[in-house]
Amino acid sequence: MKADTPSLAAEQVLAYELHGNCYLNITYHCTLRCAFCPKFNGVWEVQGYNLRIRHEPSADEVMAAIGDVARYQEIVFCGLGESTLRLEVMLDIADRLKQQGARIRLNTDGLGSLVHGRDITPELAGRIDALSISMNAHTRELYNQHCRPHPDYLDRAYEAMLDFAQRAKAHVPAVTLTALDGLEGVDIDACRAQAEALGVQFRRRVLDEVG
Ligand code: SF4
Repeated sequence: MKADTPSLAAEQVLAYELHGNCYLNITYHCTLRCAFCPKFNGVWEVQGYNLRIRHEPSADEVMAAIGDVARYQEIVFCGLGESTLRLEVMLDIADRLKQQGARIRLNTDGLGSLVHGRDITPELAGRIDALSISMNAHTRELYNQHCRPHPDYLDRAYEAMLDFAQRAKAHVPAVTLTALDGLEGVDIDACRAQAEALGVQFRRRVLDEVG
């Protein structure tokens, strides 16, 4: 949805349109502090949309911002925050969208189960059609260098992310691990091999491209 569309409050971009899809911006909190993240470099604008939000929206607010679901090929949870940190609200929105026939993708850091202390992948069944999980490195050391998890998670975030991808295969039709090309030391072919070993798809991403 364009920033000047009447159903959106100008200062709160909760839903934004790109590539025929609708992207949802439901939180500004993250588990990671990625060195390459625009917001940790003082930039909250993505593709012309200012994704800085002043409060975390309710499911009703997000649904109002989306408007007509039928306009979009896909609805994607993907803002400058980690949607699974608001798991209840995210699943509520997904349920409502599913009732309207939407195809839903979740772009995630894959740390939802680690943060919530339980395997959340069964809760995605019937709600999320595609998962795109940021792997970003082929080793824990490089992952920690670029994605900078909270100190409490430094010794297990990378493995937790891979475990999330592995478990999600049983509940989500399409699971893809992604890596950003151009991060120092990251070998894209090794990332692809890591994904193949887990039996999931792989996608190379380019820095600053939303998708
Ligand atoms: S997970 Fe995404 S939004 Fe969060 S810090 Fe990393 S790049 Fe930024």
